[in-house]
Amino acid sequence: MIPTSSTDALFETAHCLNCQAVLSGPFCAHCGQKKAARIGGRTVRKEAWERFRWFEWTTLRGALRVLLQPGTMAREYVLGRRKDHPHPLTLLCLAIGLLLIVLGHTDYLRPTLPSEEAQRMYALVTAYSKWSFSLGAVAALASMWIVFRRRGYNAAELLALALYCQAMFIALQMLNQLPLVLAGTPALLQWHKAWSPWYMTALQTAMLMVALRQFFQVDLPQEGWRLLVAGGLFAALKWQATHWYARGVVELVLWQMGR
Ligand SMILES: [Zn+2]
Repeated sequence: MIPTSSTDALFETAHCLNCQAVLSGPFCAHCGQKKAARIGGRTVRKEAWERFRWFEWTTLRGALRVLLQPGTMAREYVLGRRKDHPHPLTLLCLAIGLLLIVLGHTDYLRPTLPSEEAQRMYALVTAYSKWSFSLGAVAALASMWIVFRRRGYNAAELLALALYCQAMFIALQMLNQLPLVLAGTPALLQWHKAWSPWYMTALQTAMLMVALRQFFQVDLPQEGWRLLVAGGLFAALKWQATHWYARGVVELVLWQMGR
């Protein structure tokens, strides 16, 4: 196997990993990035709050680029380009914030239900279901761990990739909600409810495979099968997890309603 992964050796360089300039101190004289360390559990948490600035141009630019090149961005981030790319948690918070704004605009699409109890129940179910998109990150992490864990990346590095993917899934989810915000007719809502789980799973799977290909620099003729396995695993895990989650939500709501 080709050692395409990040190794500790990469970080023992005298060059800035963001812009390649020669380092003369703890900070790069050219771009200002602090000498990058390999990410592990500790640095992920530390850097997230160190660099938590919301509407920075680089964050927004990164948020847009993540749609097209999530895997490449995650790869560059993991391999040391920390200043040019948003921290995965920052990106995720930004994406969730925007999604909540969009979902807030679809709230008026609530159907009129016969009883007040049914109305309350519906509101509870919707509130919980809003968070079901988090399952995407879990399914992505599990599938990349199962298929690509021998590539030399540690769990925190794979998590960074999973979070970049999740930000991309959320952006996709926002695009998917957009027609409902703009023209929320009952017929469209019905169609949307019935079909979006199917095409969204397919789209997410395809996007994950693209991201994995970029991140692990997969050689298609030789290792394309790994991408297919990872994609299949992701779709199955996501589908199953969503099913369990939906059942859990119903149980939880019934319990909260005191039955
Ligand atoms: Zn630099």
